[in-house]
Amino acid sequence: MAAKLPPKAAKTEPAESKNTLRNSKGSERRYQNLLHSSPMGIHLFRLEEDGRLVFTGANPAADKLMHMDNSRLLGLPLEQAFPGLTSTEAPERFRKVCADNAVWHTEQFEYRDQDIAGSFELHCFQVEPGLCACMFQDRSERKIMETRLRHLTQQDPLTGIANRTMCLERIGIALQRAKRRADYRHAIIYIDLDRFKNINDTLGHTAGDAVLVDVARRLRASVRELDTVARIGSDEFVVLMEEFDSYKRPIQAIKRIRYSLSEPFVVEGEQITVTASIGLALGQDLAGSAEEALRNANLAMHHAKALGRNRIKSFTQSLLRQTLSVVRLENDMDRGLARGEFFLEFQPILRLGKTRQLFGFEALARWRHPERGLIMPGEFIPVAEDSGKVVEIGYWALREASRILTKWRERYPHLKDAMMSVNLSPQQVPKVDFLPRMREILKDTRLPAQNLKLEVTETALMQSGSSVIAKLHELRAMGVSFSVDDFGTGYSSLAYLTRLPLDHLKIDLSFVRMLEVGKDNLEIVRAIIQLATSLRMDVVAEGVENATQHDILTGLGCEYFQGYLFSRPLSEDRAEAFVQTFMSEAISS
Ligand code: C2E
Ligand code: CA
Ligand code: CA
Repeated sequence: MAAKLPPKAAKTEPAESKNTLRNSKGSERRYQNLLHSSPMGIHLFRLEEDGRLVFTGANPAADKLMHMDNSRLLGLPLEQAFPGLTSTEAPERFRKVCADNAVWHTEQFEYRDQDIAGSFELHCFQVEPGLCACMFQDRSERKIMETRLRHLTQQDPLTGIANRTMCLERIGIALQRAKRRADYRHAIIYIDLDRFKNINDTLGHTAGDAVLVDVARRLRASVRELDTVARIGSDEFVVLMEEFDSYKRPIQAIKRIRYSLSEPFVVEGEQITVTASIGLALGQDLAGSAEEALRNANLAMHHAKALGRNRIKSFTQSLLRQTLSVVRLENDMDRGLARGEFFLEFQPILRLGKTRQLFGFEALARWRHPERGLIMPGEFIPVAEDSGKVVEIGYWALREASRILTKWRERYPHLKDAMMSVNLSPQQVPKVDFLPRMREILKDTRLPAQNLKLEVTETALMQSGSSVIAKLHELRAMGVSFSVDDFGTGYSSLAYLTRLPLDHLKIDLSFVRMLEVGKDNLEIVRAIIQLATSLRMDVVAEGVENATQHDILTGLGCEYFQGYLFSRPLSEDRAEAFVQTFMSEAISS
């Protein structure tokens, strides 16, 4: 290293200006430090009086960048030290920098001689008159650094496979290619592990992470090198397949994926089985953007999950339309409730023993949608259940039904004991404000609790825990009664049923419909009625449409009926008219 101290640098150190010797020594040290620690290579050239350029210094970074010991070239004329430079503009530039205090910067400088070859970025400046420093860095090295950095920001840190950003970028490129080439095929496979949360919850996050790492490895091994495997959510993976000859290939890949995932995962000595719901979107299902393509595959995956997990579903346009209409319905629901678009119909429930009595009504929700017209609960209740909005709809229905029965009871004394049956969503009960809201509605609408019956489906009841049961008992103590709805469609345990405060059991209409078909069905219904009687519950048959069904059920001992044979669900006005036809008869509960 034969670098000389630049005089200007000394003058910029006021703290040491009193002592020229110390000053000069201190600056020299700093100057050497600078040269030594610079990550950029530095060469120094001196312009001699005869016009020759002599190589007078280099730093350690220069040795590293050029993979050589520069010191053995010190003192040599430029042409000898770096023969590759003679054919370039560099010598002329260096001379100008040394003589005129000019600066020369170039981003791409190609150098090649016997020993060295590379592409460099150069920055040359005058250190002192006659002395030029040339700083340089390897562009190819920088490129490697840049790609390494890019890779880091596009990589999932846990599994080492691509992350969402990289996945979207690759899909974007695939879409571009698909536009240019007719023979280009690609497909997106969206893989979501079923109930992965359970693994995290029961075995801990470390175990969960180990499973994810192994899943990534198995996915990688199930597809070709050129396919992209990415982790884009906690337990969501995406495989982008490209350049295959037939759309059979993604199907085969999915088979391999499922096969490889079917092998149990061993984590901390425990064997864990993992299943996945898989969505497939083929490149032929045109998507405008990478996000859209990914969303299509995600939709298909959700469809697979909704159908009961551990399945494969393909994206279709009709699935997209369906989903959009569900999303729209969900968005419209709040507005619908606020603007009074929902209303109730009332279907009579009759008690038919020796006399024909009006037992009460079941309140059934309807939605008059401003654009779509009338929407039935079979369509909007499942959507409301998914979004949790069924809770608000439930309280709305209860308030409205209670209000209307109170009004009727005031007008028609024979409705003193009439029951209003209101459907209760299983999502309502576990909420902390359940009991207060129920009490508040009864108080506001002035409906006696004895006139209210809540219908809860069998499946919901079977899934309820002890705190839910306790709340139902509390309502029962207030005078509210309960029906098991859709009985026969779930898997009731008798022991469980006896723990619940139930008064009525509604035989699901699917059984009623089958009554005439075969003897077995009749025996099932007979058993249900016997069961109910032994539990001291009354049986309501719903969906009774003809006299034959009515007769068979009466023969089996059923007394309560609901169905088109007697009446369809009625508007408020028509239900009131129906009430009037029972004026002369007694009402029984
Ligand atoms: P569900 O509680 O089992 O209600 C009985 C359904 O059977 C009603 O349909 C009723 O109109 C229908 N039905 C009655 N008799 C007959 C018949 O003779 N033949 C046939 N084919 N059908 C008959 P709807 O009104 O469409 O209600 C469907 C479901 O929507 C109800 O099933 C209930 O689970 C739910 N739902 C309705 N209103 C509400 C509500 O306010 N809250 C909640 N959570 N669910 C509701
Ligand atoms: Ca019901
Ligand atoms: Ca029912």
